[in-house]
Amino acid sequence: MKRKLAPLWLLPAITLTFATGSVSAAPKKCSEEIGHPLSNTPCEKARGTVDSSSSTVPSPQVVDDGIVIEDVTFISPERRSPVPHISVVIRNGRIAQIAPGLLAGPHATRINGRDRFLIPGLIDSHVHVGDTGPLDDDAIAAHPELLQAYQLQLPRSFLAFGFTTLVDLNSAEEDRARFIAAPLHPNLYHCGAAVHVLGGYGAQRPPKDAAAANAANLVYQPAQVKDWPAFLDPRDYTPARDVDRVVQSGGVCVKVFVESGFGGVFHWPVPSSETLAAFRAETRRRGLVLIIHANGVESWQAALDAHADVIAHGLWHWPGDRFAKTPPPEARQVIHQAALAGVHVQPTLQVIYGELSIFDRYLLDDPRFADALPRVLVAYLKSQEAQAAAHTMQEQYRQIFAKLQVPASMDVATAMSIAPARVTSTLRLMLQEKVKLLFGSDTPSGDGGIGNPPGLNERLELSRWAEVGVPLSTILRAATLDNAAAFGLSKDLGTIEVGKRADLLLLRADPLQSVAAYDSIDTIILNGSPLPRASLLPAN
Ligand SMILES: [Zn+2]
Repeated sequence: MKRKLAPLWLLPAITLTFATGSVSAAPKKCSEEIGHPLSNTPCEKARGTVDSSSSTVPSPQVVDDGIVIEDVTFISPERRSPVPHISVVIRNGRIAQIAPGLLAGPHATRINGRDRFLIPGLIDSHVHVGDTGPLDDDAIAAHPELLQAYQLQLPRSFLAFGFTTLVDLNSAEEDRARFIAAPLHPNLYHCGAAVHVLGGYGAQRPPKDAAAANAANLVYQPAQVKDWPAFLDPRDYTPARDVDRVVQSGGVCVKVFVESGFGGVFHWPVPSSETLAAFRAETRRRGLVLIIHANGVESWQAALDAHADVIAHGLWHWPGDRFAKTPPPEARQVIHQAALAGVHVQPTLQVIYGELSIFDRYLLDDPRFADALPRVLVAYLKSQEAQAAAHTMQEQYRQIFAKLQVPASMDVATAMSIAPARVTSTLRLMLQEKVKLLFGSDTPSGDGGIGNPPGLNERLELSRWAEVGVPLSTILRAATLDNAAAFGLSKDLGTIEVGKRADLLLLRADPLQSVAAYDSIDTIILNGSPLPRASLLPAN
């Protein structure tokens, strides 16, 4: 039977469905109110005494199957404010009921939600599950077992930090297969292999065969006819064929790199406006999200001209003084246009801040670092061997900066702090202009750095947004409902509503009061299965 229940202010938009015949024998006396909220024991005390506010609530009902989260404060991003003293019932991996006063019977699994906050599982719409995190090629060659340990822990680390859904923007079939073969892993959506221009970012070396060209999802541009390898038929590398490859791999989006070389450090070819327009037409025709990697004024402009759905980075390159931190009029203008166009932007702050860890390895001492990476890997990263490798990388960065003619008064670490300052001030401008933000972290941001470990990188990104002044409600929404809607997943994800997939987080603190609440995850509910956070942390 279906009926509406509870005052309208409490549950304005939900029609609640109650299971019939679910009333069970009286539950036993409540003994333990404190302790882990996962328990099979229904509790007499809670019955009929949900809270003083329960005077406005009908008498409690017992639900005797599935999982019942009792007496929780639920925070769903489409609502203006949290709703206290609610029970949420999960059956068959879905949210089945939401109402005040529902209690678990003896055959149901009870989760005590008292003094807890229930939010949707978080979504990161910019990850790379095939990247090797803090291990570069040399480290992997010397210690293949560390890569294995990293890959084993990877899916669990995303979950431990609350991320139950990911969108990978550029990966190989085998990397995705390994990721989802893990017994516990976030739900993974992807864009297949991102589109590269011959000789461009990510495809600097010519492909050795067709398999390599397909893996890079190369796109043929007539202007590059002289450089195009003779063994590749250009008709196999049109935008339509590239999108075919993404569709065949099960992708929900197409990502195209527009990267001319990180503000003049390199000089790479980029897709022409005709090429981008062709990708727009092909993705629209097939209902796919078009994502453009862009981080400078020119590439943002190209993304806007192409009517992209998502810009996969914040803005930190612009013309003029390379060492100026204040965004010039060109940057302000393109941000203004992004707001008018309604394009979604992933600001990716922590990826830029993470680069600072090349010179300052402070993150190694963050207690959360050991929650993100296996112990053997943490031990390696603290070893002399890894320190020596870090010095080599520092030298490489010094050489790059020497080419950029850093002023004599500026050391490299100071020069590197310019990009974080820039990406912070442009996010502030985006906030003022009301640019639509999506939570995408670019985890783990390439290979070989310690600054962006899986799970923790997302956690740090949440804090970066809060530091800039993004309202906590906007942060939660960007990482749940807005991400779900932008990728066509809101039928299943993004809010706490009956019928949606039961990907939920139980927190000990309110994420609308403090971003630190994301450090208080108690239980992760993935596809309806409750997982204590401690069970997801690295064991070796
Ligand atoms: Zn990326």
